[in-house]
Amino acid sequence: MLLERPGTPLRSVELPHPKPGPGDVLLRVRACGVCRTDLHIVDGELTQPRLPLVIGHQIVGETEDGRRLGVPWLGWTDGTCRYCTTGRENLCDEARFTGYDLDGGYAEWAVADKRFCFPIPEGYGDLEAAPLLCAGLIGYRSLRLAGDPERLGLYGFGAAAHIVAQVAAWEGRRVFAVTREGDRAVQGFARSLGAEWAGAGAPPEELDAAIIFAPAGELVPAALKAVAKGGTVVCAGIHMSDIPSFPYEILWGERVLRSVANLTRRDGEELLALAPRVPVRTKVEAFPLERANDALAKLRAGGFEGALALVP
Ligand SMILES: [Zn+2]
Ligand SMILES: [Zn+2]
Repeated sequence: MLLERPGTPLRSVELPHPKPGPGDVLLRVRACGVCRTDLHIVDGELTQPRLPLVIGHQIVGETEDGRRLGVPWLGWTDGTCRYCTTGRENLCDEARFTGYDLDGGYAEWAVADKRFCFPIPEGYGDLEAAPLLCAGLIGYRSLRLAGDPERLGLYGFGAAAHIVAQVAAWEGRRVFAVTREGDRAVQGFARSLGAEWAGAGAPPEELDAAIIFAPAGELVPAALKAVAKGGTVVCAGIHMSDIPSFPYEILWGERVLRSVANLTRRDGEELLALAPRVPVRTKVEAFPLERANDALAKLRAGGFEGALALVP
């Protein structure tokens, strides 16, 4: 399913079989998760995609010899810059991203640099594993960068929050899920995954940290107001609408506001080792590959539980 121009639907086309270069692996795609970042690319909010492009960066693929590998957003780094050599390859200036700089997984076949693939843990089906590869990874990195909160707020309860809520509850944290007004089904879903409270508006007590998954800038001052002194607000998305100005008072008291960018391979290794221990259970609705545009429309509309993935 090919993106030819931002702002236009993906088009079903026959492409030549992708050829693995040195160090690459050829994968038959078994499932590919649908991520909000895919929407930002299709909508032109992320402005530098390679075109034409196969999007999709939560690929569960199978090698010719039957191994299942996961391909995440981080597809390649130079390994030599000041970020890469200090454990921060997620910030590499030369990084190439799957489904953005490199063709991704909205396809029947994909190639990926072996060094950036993860073995898929046993016990996860192809579909169930797909959202671990971005929603899970970004959620996990955001949770680690939120400090060690007793009371954790999750703003926007989509694919990432439905995974991170399970990890956080398993770690003994109290989880508060802030959803859109009237999203009763999603609120019930959040409670079923360990949230002690789920609702719209301000949580019933102060938080020690908040992670904002929804791409809505107005949530930043709302979350800052909800966290206690010394608390951290993490913006987990790659794109967000502008943040309205706010009084310094709500940042004062050593509150921290930060973003999370991309992932390191270490994040992936840690999450994929942790997920079976929790165990994290993902809820994933499958769409046939050729209905990718319908899956993107469903993600845009929101209001469903869990994650979406394409199956060739
Ligand atoms: Zn993603
Ligand atoms: Zn680098």
